[in-house]
Amino acid sequence: MKKSEVIIIGAGLTGLTTAYFLKQRGISAIILEASPRIGGRIDTYVGETGVTMEMGATWFGLKHKSLVDLLAELNVDYFPQHTKGISLFETMSFVPPQRFEVPESEEPSYRIKGGTETLIKRLGEKVGSESIILDTKVERIGEEKDELVVSCSGNKTFSAKKVITTLPPNLLVNTIQFTPDLPKNFKSLCTKTHTWMSESIKFAVEYKTAFWKENNYSGTLFSQSGIIQEQYDHSSIDSSCFALKGFLNGGTITLSREEREAKVKAQLVHLFGEAAGNYVSYNEKVWNNEGLTHAPYNGFVMPHQNNGHELYQKTYMNDALYVSGTETAVEFPGYMDGAVKAAKTIAEKITNEKITL
Ligand SMILES: Cc1cc2nc3c(=O)[nH]c(=O)nc-3n(C[C@H](O)[C@H](O)[C@H](O)COP(=O)(O)OP(=O)(O)OC[C@H]3O[C@@H](n4cnc5c(N)ncnc54)[C@H](O)[C@@H]3O)c2cc1C
Repeated sequence: MKKSEVIIIGAGLTGLTTAYFLKQRGISAIILEASPRIGGRIDTYVGETGVTMEMGATWFGLKHKSLVDLLAELNVDYFPQHTKGISLFETMSFVPPQRFEVPESEEPSYRIKGGTETLIKRLGEKVGSESIILDTKVERIGEEKDELVVSCSGNKTFSAKKVITTLPPNLLVNTIQFTPDLPKNFKSLCTKTHTWMSESIKFAVEYKTAFWKENNYSGTLFSQSGIIQEQYDHSSIDSSCFALKGFLNGGTITLSREEREAKVKAQLVHLFGEAAGNYVSYNEKVWNNEGLTHAPYNGFVMPHQNNGHELYQKTYMNDALYVSGTETAVEFPGYMDGAVKAAKTIAEKITNEKITL
């Protein structure tokens, strides 16, 4: 059994940021991550042309202060989402799309230079690979004497006086067993807490040229009639590689990947011309199928339902279990900013120190 001062479950943005804050203050933590990669709901695909395509988190605003401050501290650059040119709004399949331009006065959304994984990689470097244990799925947490014993896949066992979970709450209580069990009201709350974006289907189409810009299209599209519901230009900051990226209608989860791809291609060719069919690669991620993010809910759950609930601000198992993750944040829960805020909150509780970035 490997002993540690603190165990963090999950190497998403919350887990990595928490480990970073603790390490800066001299507290050593190990992160147990079920997946072979770090990042969780941040997942950047790199195409053949070198273009980065976000299958998870992409945009933020300057109002997301904790995230913006963390980016500044880690020297991670960002740039505004390209919106210049003609944008399209499809209302019905049998009428031409409405054309509009995004007003310049509109507050921009920003993207991270080199892809959102730049932030994850930077945090991973700061925390150190020796502190991140991949392919290690936590299955049980039990109280033993004055510490918690964490049992994982592959018969691996770890123990610590403090354990921080960063799993989406609904996933936590559906996939990890606790001895003694967690309070009933807490478990019930978790099963009714929405996991942000876990129902999304993201897609990205990689191209050799930004042919839409040549025709003065921004690449922005909203549609109520096609498989693509929302789409934006996803080219690199230096305009050296190109992609269109967005969200597909969630109902198309019942289709095969090939069927979705054919529909995406048809919609893009219909709106942007033959060049749209001549792509380098089609990429997609169906988050509902991701067992390390999504678990079925107990009934219908609204977006952001129960996020930041007061029961998430408490500790459990004799004050040794801390509940974290973006869904527990009291401000901007669900978003990357919520993840950084949640990390701050728990690191402050553990260090008894105010964390200013
Ligand atoms: C499609 C999509 C689009 C998004 N777009 C945006 C956006 O544009 N802007 C924005 O601000 N936010 C966006 N988000 C939300 C953003 O991704 C999250 O707020 C953030 O990444 C959550 O980080 P987290 O660490 O709290 O949780 P997660 O990223 O879910 O991390 C939890 C980690 O725990 C691991 N894990 C799960 N089970 C176990 C187990 N049993 N044992 C060990 N490890 C386990 C997982 O593999 C994962 O790495 C988006 C999310 C998705 C899915």
